Amino acid sequence: MAEAKDVYTFSDLQNWEEVSSDLDLPARLAVFGDPVEHSRSPQMHNPGLESVGAGCQYVRLHIRPDELTDALALLKSKNFIGTNVTIPHKGGVFDAVDDMTEVARRIGAVNTVAVDGDQLIGHNTDAPGLKRAIREEFSIDLTDLRIMIIGAGGGAGKAAAVQCAMDHCERLVLVNRTVEKAEALATELHDLFVDPDKLEGPAERLKAIAWEEKAMERELDQIDLIINATSIGMKRTDPEVVPQRLIEPHHMVYDMVYAPARTRLIADAEAAGAKAANGLGMLLWQGALSFEFWLNQEAPVAAMRSGLMDSL
Ligand code: NAP
Repeated sequence: MAEAKDVYTFSDLQNWEEVSSDLDLPARLAVFGDPVEHSRSPQMHNPGLESVGAGCQYVRLHIRPDELTDALALLKSKNFIGTNVTIPHKGGVFDAVDDMTEVARRIGAVNTVAVDGDQLIGHNTDAPGLKRAIREEFSIDLTDLRIMIIGAGGGAGKAAAVQCAMDHCERLVLVNRTVEKAEALATELHDLFVDPDKLEGPAERLKAIAWEEKAMERELDQIDLIINATSIGMKRTDPEVVPQRLIEPHHMVYDMVYAPARTRLIADAEAAGAKAANGLGMLLWQGALSFEFWLNQEAPVAAMRSGLMDSL
């Protein structure tokens, strides 16, 4: 009996019976990516699978864009339960699945696929993963918050915005360097903000603005939660996401970046007396929700969390 390899290829998947025949546990879940070596998903999912006695394991598959459709089709014949997909496949898989959840449809991207008979069902757990992380970190739900998303032009920013809108948050301000992308997203989400139960206040409930100090300053008094959905903060030399002087003690700051664990934004927020958290919780909860989507049982979050922490 052998341990799984760090990374398998498409050609391995084509010959899966032979390639995986000596594994100690059958590999029935995977992450597809290109590249995929960096993915921590096996370290998070395998302790979870073990703790519920699932009798299978999770592996990395290096799948190139031109192999994606065939690789997805092979999931069914090779007895997989499902897969996660990461860069660059979230859009490609969206076009390849047979059906999908509403949140995935609204985001236009899929990060989780479940095999259901001869159908592939897509889901996007980044968005509900963020929702669960916010609840865990700040003991409050998106629905009760006035939220600013910085980086609303990217995939993670769009996922966050769709979840906030589907949860009918109090207010949503979409910020982006390329403001046209934030404006287009606001137009897409407009129908979710027509809600007779939410009274109009002094500020517009849905707005798109440019990533500029003055524009953000005008909004931040009327904001509770600031979400960084850009990649700014991963490098020491990165600029400020929000100028420190604009962060106030009443703000909650959620940085989707988790490496480094303490970004400049988090340090600035804490120095301003605001509550702050990094993106590890979102990473954990998107995994936990994928687990539940595949296995139809509550995710063993403690085991998954400790596997994820050990992988850092
Ligand atoms: P993406 O699609 O490349 O989007 C990047 C976004 O950031 C765009 O809105 C872009 O603005 C903006 N941006 C990038 N560099 C910028 C800069 N120097 N100045 C101003 N704006 C800048 O990336 P993504 O996939 O959405 O991921 C974004 C971040 O979220 C990454 O750090 C990723 O690791 C993190 N993430 C974390 C989790 C988690 O579980 N914690 C999940 C998903 C993503 P323009 O539109 O103007 O280019």
